[in-house]
Amino acid sequence: MVFNLPKILVAAASLLFLNFLMVGCNKQNGGDLPAASTDWSRDILMTNLIVDLDRMGASADIVVAGSLASTSASFEIGDLVIENVTSNGIQLNFRAEQGRLDVGVPQSVEAQTLTIDYRFAIQDDFNGLLRSGATFIWPYYCGNLFPCKSEPAEGGGYSLMLEGVPDGATGLFPRSIAMDVPAYMVGWAVADYSYLALGQTTNGTEVGVYYRTGEEQDALSGAQYLRDVFDWYEQTFGEYGFGQQVASVSVDWGGAAFGGIEHHPYWHIASGSMSDPVIHAHEAAHGWFGNGVRIGCWEDFVLSEGLASYLAARALEEVAGEDIGDQVWNSYRNQLASLQSSSENKIAWPPGCNGIDILEDGLFGIAPYMKGAFFFKHLESVLGSNRFDSLLRDFYRANRGEAVTMQLLLTLIEEESDYDPAQCAQAWLRNETLPQLERCGY
Ligand SMILES: [Zn+2]
Repeated sequence: MVFNLPKILVAAASLLFLNFLMVGCNKQNGGDLPAASTDWSRDILMTNLIVDLDRMGASADIVVAGSLASTSASFEIGDLVIENVTSNGIQLNFRAEQGRLDVGVPQSVEAQTLTIDYRFAIQDDFNGLLRSGATFIWPYYCGNLFPCKSEPAEGGGYSLMLEGVPDGATGLFPRSIAMDVPAYMVGWAVADYSYLALGQTTNGTEVGVYYRTGEEQDALSGAQYLRDVFDWYEQTFGEYGFGQQVASVSVDWGGAAFGGIEHHPYWHIASGSMSDPVIHAHEAAHGWFGNGVRIGCWEDFVLSEGLASYLAARALEEVAGEDIGDQVWNSYRNQLASLQSSSENKIAWPPGCNGIDILEDGLFGIAPYMKGAFFFKHLESVLGSNRFDSLLRDFYRANRGEAVTMQLLLTLIEEESDYDPAQCAQAWLRNETLPQLERCGY
């Protein structure tokens, strides 16, 4: 994603789960049904959502892995109101409190489907369904939209049905996501949209842009290279994993907001950024890096955002020419300079795994985007464009649908080339100061 709105930091700091308690208990089906207890380790395999916007209610069929050791499964539920939890028509014991749903799951080696009926609410702090009709659940607000686990390594498949879309409006959402993806990738947008087809890629993917009244010129301008950019990603890194129709979608995040978020195959772009080709190219790149291959820990954010920032510049340079590429890198240089002269976090790749809060600890800022982009530019420079492309292609192919770390990419580069990137990774990503360009430049 790319996003800039100071309010989100305030929102994160004031994150409060509504403190309600709801307990379901079934004695009729006998005492052999397990009681609700907490188990965060149960793997979510698939989440099938049927959402009714009229009723502000939904039904989630969540397929969880079988287990002989555990008789429970836990989910983040934010301020959802849980109405019932069943499995194959049998009501299960459950407990919903403090943003957590615990379900008693009958022992089984087979995967089981839990049907969770619930109601959800509009959110006002970029933490769920927004009043404008688009969802915003990055980084860890999926629980305000559907029962989930927000850690990025917890990948799962999804299907989504949106009912109750108002007359005259269009609901844009992924009907099916067959690959394991992070929960924050799931989303929808509902508004009065017009569609502009941008053409097909060599692989036959239809690329387009959805915009709202008054945005046609911005959409035309921002998406003018999008078909070619998408084609370049497909040809360079391999097959796209989220369908044959993709589009940038304008969303209303309020006047001051800009950026976008990677809800593939219909990624969202703030209306204020619709005219910027860099944002379109950035969000499209997440189809490969960030979504197709997802991050293992929040600390690996640079793997998603540094790479998407680098690839947006690189792809625009490839399809629109060096002048455009130079413009993008100049704007990145300015952002890097402003970071270095600010009091913001300057570490792009902190050590550890999920030991940080990505919002409160400041990792969500310029550092992973821009220091990451320049580090990847350095790798392109020392390895050569073609070699670096093919290493990224290998990395994508080997890890599609998997959660990976930044270290895994560095190890692959070290093993498959004669260059060890460790020192310059340290210099660019783990130091506050900028590296000496003679050693780690581009
Ligand atoms: Zn991004």
